[in-house]
Amino acid sequence: MDNLKQAACDAIDAASTYLYDISQDIWSNPELSYNEHYAHYVLTRVQEEKGFCVEKKYKIDTAFRATIGCKENGPHVVVICEYDALPEIGHACGHNLIAESGVAAALGIQAAFLKAGRPLGLLSVLGTPAEEGGGGKVRLIKEGVFDDVNVAMMLHPAPMDSSHADFFLAANLVKVKYLGKASHAAAFPWEGINALDAAVTCYQTISNLRQQMKPTWRVHGIITNGGVKPNIIPEESNMEFIIRAPTKAEFDLLTKKCLECFESAAKATSCKVCFFLSFIFITKLFYVYRKISIKSDVISPDRYPSYV
Ligand SMILES: [Zn+2]
Repeated sequence: MDNLKQAACDAIDAASTYLYDISQDIWSNPELSYNEHYAHYVLTRVQEEKGFCVEKKYKIDTAFRATIGCKENGPHVVVICEYDALPEIGHACGHNLIAESGVAAALGIQAAFLKAGRPLGLLSVLGTPAEEGGGGKVRLIKEGVFDDVNVAMMLHPAPMDSSHADFFLAANLVKVKYLGKASHAAAFPWEGINALDAAVTCYQTISNLRQQMKPTWRVHGIITNGGVKPNIIPEESNMEFIIRAPTKAEFDLLTKKCLECFESAAKATSCKVCFFLSFIFITKLFYVYRKISIKSDVISPDRYPSYV
């Protein structure tokens, strides 16, 4: 086993400049969710060069799958590449590095197969587009891409060792909509019901709430729509918040407090409010990651957060 690990490490070290160039190329050409055509081209070309069997545009226009080995010999292992960027700020989340590390892992595993003299299973490098809000992996899961997979893994860069990080909290994305009544702001302001006032009051109320929040709780948000023209009393305003807490009980409590803030701002301004909650993260999953990380020696138990 040790000589296989060594073969994998040696292959990755030998390819370091090659890998760096891939990452830089993708970083210099940022593309948004589902438009990652250049990254798709770069990564599929690389996999072809290295002798993988490549399926371009796999299920999604900018997804791909590159395989070596066979399932008869062992498990089906998937290494994931992400490569989408963010609006305005490019590859700020470092998905170019996810692509690089995915290719690196694939080259390492390929070298281990060569060292072993036979494939030790099936390796798929999966290019999954649209991580930033597009749900690319959700679509691939629905397509059954992961159905026969034994292990799927991915590396995400961070400016610290995040395997113990407390900021991976249960999160709720809430879209808030206030509905008022439009009126001319100079001629008939008394006829209007100001939905922007509701949004501002809501924002302020959440800010007041923050002083009483536990240090591990987070509520952060923006006003996405504050009206149309300055001389029209805004008829509608829209906000987006993310609510986060480390445990389900605290998360439910914080969500309840936030909903009260949303409702009270409507009451104070005579607006109607509606909100849409979409639960986007389950803390428990991170506890599982942590346990696996400790078991496989990636992190030591003393990095385990006390509340787990
Ligand atoms: Zn990311």
